[in-house]
Amino acid sequence: MKLQDKVAIVTGAASGIGKEIAATFVREGAKVAIFDLDQAKADAAAKEMDPTGKRALGFVADVTNEQEVNDGVDKVAQVFGGIDILVSNAGIQTVFPIEDFPFDKWKQLLSIHLDGAFLTTKAAIKYMYKQGRGGSIIYMGSVHSKEASVLKAPYVTAKHGLIGLAKTVAKEGAKHKVRANVICPGFVRTPLVEKQIPEQAKELGMSEDDVIKKVMLKETVDGEFTTVQDVAETALFFASFESNALTGQSLVVSHGWFMQ
Ligand code: NAD
Repeated sequence: MKLQDKVAIVTGAASGIGKEIAATFVREGAKVAIFDLDQAKADAAAKEMDPTGKRALGFVADVTNEQEVNDGVDKVAQVFGGIDILVSNAGIQTVFPIEDFPFDKWKQLLSIHLDGAFLTTKAAIKYMYKQGRGGSIIYMGSVHSKEASVLKAPYVTAKHGLIGLAKTVAKEGAKHKVRANVICPGFVRTPLVEKQIPEQAKELGMSEDDVIKKVMLKETVDGEFTTVQDVAETALFFASFESNALTGQSLVVSHGWFMQ
């Protein structure tokens, strides 16, 4: 058990990558708070991971809402006795060419990814500092933290921004042994990606099969999707690493799409 009795918050954990990270952390002995938009979905995910309700609990918190984030984080600290790990993972994708990108959609995407990361960090790091036992903050970046793709202006902007935030948190958190790192996955077949396939096919005038092969997986070494398990194992590595030796970094998990 690599996370015995650690307390973790994973945002956007009712689905996809966040859900697998939360389940992996529970299996490794952590108590996990599943933050998402819908109580029933968060509760259902928690129940799947731990039917006893002792090691996984669902919380409603829109990561763009300061009050909901603060209340949720305070409650987790109360119920589980502190906070050791934050995985800022909640995210959406919206695709448009820049000349047609609706301003409200640009702002919504930046807010979920960047305000969400900031607000959850601000709320959770206070507990990590106070407890004096260090902590691990993990941001869900993307290969799009490193390079661009067409149609994804706010997503690429936000994912690059998370690397700046992680580096700053790594510097500020060091004296409290709070580490901050970014995971940068390639394409993973979650609901977020399933939604994009037909949207991109329409925008690019291609078949859905071509979007997968010629756009999404084109630059991988083997034409394979990254899996939720691949990303969860990476999160476990960052979460369980004990020292400041590994902080301020970003790790690409993508079947070789974008080599540093
Ligand atoms: P997903 O759609 O399966 O899950 C995202 C979850 O975030 C959902 O449960 C959703 O309800 C929640 N969410 C959305 N807005 C929220 C908000 N304001 N507050 C709280 N929760 C909110 O998507 P996923 O593919 O698992 O994506 C998770 C993260 O991984 C995102 O940050 C995404 O950008 C990143 N990512 C995904 C891929 C991929 O290919 N799927 C690749 C790289 C990075």
